[in-house]
Amino acid sequence: MVDHVLRCQSCGVAHDPSQSTWACPCGGLLDVEMSPCFPLERFSQRPPGLWRYREALAVSGRAKPVSLGEPQTPLVEADRTPCRTLLKLDYLFPTGSFKDRGASVLLTQSRELGVTFLIEDSSGNAGAAIAAYAAASGVRAKVFVPATASTAKTALITAYGAELVKVPGTRANTSQAAWDAAQGAYYASHVWNPYFLEGTKTIAFEIWEQMGRTAPDWVITPVGHGTMLLGVAIGFRQLQQAGLVTVLPRIVGVQAAACAPLVQAFGSRPQALSPTVAAATAADGIAIDQPVRWRQILQAVTESHGRLIGVSEEAIEDALVTWARRGWLMEPTSATALAAYAHLAADHCFAATDTVVVPITGSGSKSTSRFLT
Ligand SMILES: [Zn+2]
Repeated sequence: MVDHVLRCQSCGVAHDPSQSTWACPCGGLLDVEMSPCFPLERFSQRPPGLWRYREALAVSGRAKPVSLGEPQTPLVEADRTPCRTLLKLDYLFPTGSFKDRGASVLLTQSRELGVTFLIEDSSGNAGAAIAAYAAASGVRAKVFVPATASTAKTALITAYGAELVKVPGTRANTSQAAWDAAQGAYYASHVWNPYFLEGTKTIAFEIWEQMGRTAPDWVITPVGHGTMLLGVAIGFRQLQQAGLVTVLPRIVGVQAAACAPLVQAFGSRPQALSPTVAAATAADGIAIDQPVRWRQILQAVTESHGRLIGVSEEAIEDALVTWARRGWLMEPTSATALAAYAHLAADHCFAATDTVVVPITGSGSKSTSRFLT
């Protein structure tokens, strides 16, 4: 275990991690603050998977991991031109999305804190992941979802035994309902709870190991609330701080143009999050009109010399079908990253010597209805 505190982004107060705190009383977001250890010899003696890196995670050394047998997801070469392009197949996790990384670590920490009941809100994938890992750890879960969430995703949440609450209105209405319910309870939010990012950062460690302990030049990822993007940023920054990589990958965050508050904020001076009215998009997993950690996301992209890109519904559909015809079936949210990849390639943004990694964040098996004929 590494010593850590939970530091408020707003007022700077450090909170004791032995308390079940998920937000600062001032209303600020908490971040895990620590110096992770990277005992490489010890890592290499363990089986592949995210718990291989436990000395680099802010969980108690005594804690027994809440695990459903997460694999080290494959990193496979998909293209050699215009550069070497690798897909990181995070849809191969037990509940079909990368959110299992965050849920496994968050539930491990929650159980260690003695939590017996938790609240989560999600448009689908995170809710399923929290429900599954809550079930695995014997914790009762109540998951709030928008009434419009896909049946395939909400069915998973109930299958794992969590209580499902459907909230009419916008995604923001769902978050507010969960926030209200979480007062006096434990909020296992993939957005607010900093231990979720402790899990998602392990994708950086895996990519680094699978690439022979080097970093790629680019990582292109969908971004809504930023749980994948921030995980990538935190993980590679910690590797850099430990002297294990020299240059951070450029991080490209991709949104559906129909709901792109981060793209708009990134391009505004001064940078500010404007109220966005989200139009319908196939990329439901990132249809977030008010990303809570927006400042942190913009900062991470800026530090990496990356960018934020919006892609059209036509481009998402085109990427989805193109890659399905190559054997890679993914959810539309994941296809946004490949739409942006095609756009950047057409603009000659990649050098022939570059390596690009695209995490495939969610399974296409949850959204096959579009292919029915
Ligand atoms: Zn505070």
